Amino acid sequence: MRQLKDYLVFLKDQGMDRVPLLEALETTPRVPTVAPVRAAAQPVPGPAPESTSPTSTTPATANTMIQPDAMSRLTEVRNELGECTRCKLSETRTNIVFGSGNPNAKLLFIGEGPGADEDAQGLPFVGRAGKKLTEIIEKGMKLDREKDTYICNIVKCRPPGNRDPEIDEITACKPFLIEQVRAIRPKVIVALGKPAASTLLGRSVAITKERGSWHEFDGIKLMLTFHPAYLLRFYTLENRKAVMEDMQKVLEVLNS
Ligand code: SF4
Repeated sequence: MRQLKDYLVFLKDQGMDRVPLLEALETTPRVPTVAPVRAAAQPVPGPAPESTSPTSTTPATANTMIQPDAMSRLTEVRNELGECTRCKLSETRTNIVFGSGNPNAKLLFIGEGPGADEDAQGLPFVGRAGKKLTEIIEKGMKLDREKDTYICNIVKCRPPGNRDPEIDEITACKPFLIEQVRAIRPKVIVALGKPAASTLLGRSVAITKERGSWHEFDGIKLMLTFHPAYLLRFYTLENRKAVMEDMQKVLEVLNS
């Protein structure tokens, strides 16, 4: 039931408004005889995909906004994650928070980890920091959060007490982050805060010194900026201006 719930939240999150397996059953005479989470994980109508390998792709989706490859690949990554117990965060989480937004977005935001609201809802950036991020995207950048961005974190389960994720947890979860990035292939990634920036660059980042600077992750342009929670904690004009300057640079690249 928990896998099913995770899967339904994931589909909703990807913009799906129906359970695609039902369409698959209507158009194919064969019911796939694979494990439930994988069977449920084919978000596409038409013939049932034969392969569940990490590099395989599935046929077109009914959702015209979403390109099939990114969507199906993200679904595969989510299925690979399953009811993950690869690190100790699995012991205290309520929900895995995989990510949300448009799998074909040109802009990918990566934060550090789910908080209490995110853990409860299974969705990233839905608490106070999430509202601030939405404000930055929609009021500051004049973009649509759901259509123009994809948002995830470096770890998919909530660190207890909102502490920073630890190195063993980041290491366990990072392969899935990398596969998410490869599925989406955005034009720009924005790392929100020190843990995300340090994880993506593979070194300790002094975010107050390095925010606003361009880097690269997996061949994709990477901008470093403050986490929205930091902005809320240190709500100064200087910090707000800094983030908007960083986002202006991102917009210039997105529009180039
Ligand atoms: S944080 Fe990542 S690796 Fe750890 S249990 Fe959650 S999904 Fe698995």
